[in-house]
Amino acid sequence: MPYHTRVGDRSVNNSPNEADGRHAAQPRLFSSSAEQTRPPKPKGVWIVALPVLALLVAVVAVQTAPVIHQAPPPLQTFAKPRLTPPALPSKTARQSKKATEPIIRVNVTPGGVNSLQLDVRGRYRMISLDTQEELAKENGLSRIVVTSTAKGLKLGSKPYATKQIEIQPDQSPSIRVDDHLYRGRLRLFRRADGLISAVNVLPIEEYLSSVVDSEMPTKFPEAARQAQAIVARTYALYQVRHADPNALFDLFSSQRSQKYLGVEYVDASGRRLAGESESSRRVVKETRGVICTLRNELFCTYYSAVCGGRTVNGNEVFKDATDALKSVPCEFCRESPHYRWTTELSREVFQQRATSSNNSGKKALAIRSVRQTSTPGIGAISQFELDAGKERPSVSGIELRDRMPSGTLHSPHFQIKLEKDRVVFDGRGHGHGVGFCQWGAKGQAEAGRTSTEIIRHYFSGIELTNLGY
Ligand SMILES: [Zn+2]
Repeated sequence: MPYHTRVGDRSVNNSPNEADGRHAAQPRLFSSSAEQTRPPKPKGVWIVALPVLALLVAVVAVQTAPVIHQAPPPLQTFAKPRLTPPALPSKTARQSKKATEPIIRVNVTPGGVNSLQLDVRGRYRMISLDTQEELAKENGLSRIVVTSTAKGLKLGSKPYATKQIEIQPDQSPSIRVDDHLYRGRLRLFRRADGLISAVNVLPIEEYLSSVVDSEMPTKFPEAARQAQAIVARTYALYQVRHADPNALFDLFSSQRSQKYLGVEYVDASGRRLAGESESSRRVVKETRGVICTLRNELFCTYYSAVCGGRTVNGNEVFKDATDALKSVPCEFCRESPHYRWTTELSREVFQQRATSSNNSGKKALAIRSVRQTSTPGIGAISQFELDAGKERPSVSGIELRDRMPSGTLHSPHFQIKLEKDRVVFDGRGHGHGVGFCQWGAKGQAEAGRTSTEIIRHYFSGIELTNLGY
């Protein structure tokens, strides 16, 4: 389930970590440094003048199709692909012609890789994005290992003196990167640090068909999944809209942005699984082009798995949170196993991680007691004062969650009990808790609410707008 930090700098010329937007030293729920230095969002550049369309909420039986061993959908022609993602339609453009479906660029190798395995089914064309020169026009690639050289990229044993290659298959889905089959095109970049980034370029609606199933179980009710499609579409377009002009991609395929597994994939235990389904393609089609806007502008629709009873004020966690992301009550996620949770750590590990892990070389402090300095349950992030005698460091739930061993704390909302040899955390929710609550959407759908009603519960004062492509 997503954490949804903002994508960092996405330019090819950055330092090794920045090239993939990674900011490892930062708490993962905070905005990236790139975001902190990002100029303010331009006002009034994108004004939605299209009429707001009511969403069609079909009463359809809950989709329970198994995801295992589903065959991918039939091949289809990948017609007139675009090389660059378009801006959201301007008022002038919309007046003169029909809006065009946006293209999304997804980094499917977050962090960069030393090599990857590439398969291409059927005929394809390969070009250099540096020169637009055609490098190959052939039929199929099978188990080709892609590596980097000093001057560029190497596919199998064949070196190319270019740092940016695009593979354009005649049909879609045709491209497999390691264990994932993707629709659309693939771009390969040799980064400044020699690592390789693979970026899948495809129309947003095809991308969303996988995001819906990657982010939300197929057994969740139709209205919840329709809401997920609209929220994910808005999130993705917001990232496109705010990408640096030199960025090589708009989103990561991981929870750093939103999870995107592709058409099918092989999991860690070797099972071949579907990354999209008839159900996900249907809810995407039913909501085609529909996004959330606030005062006619796109905003970042943050979301998390389980809020645990009340969503968190967006500005507690994200620099670019709008007033649509204010805290609201949500008892609809009560069925989730993470609505309330308890976990524990040894006192030694807690002290070590809480007081020293973020300061290299600093000795761990012996903590005598922990005092919660925030008021729980009002949409604020938990804050604590650690009493270590002379020193009394303050630390937030976000920081503690980031410092403790991975997976220990499901959310930044918890209370801490210090015992003789151990520390007990009583927490609520899963994820940062801002905005749309996925399990809450499930609960609301089961209570008979429509996708529109569900979205309006979590995002205050917003409109639903159809981009009309
Ligand atoms: Zn909730």
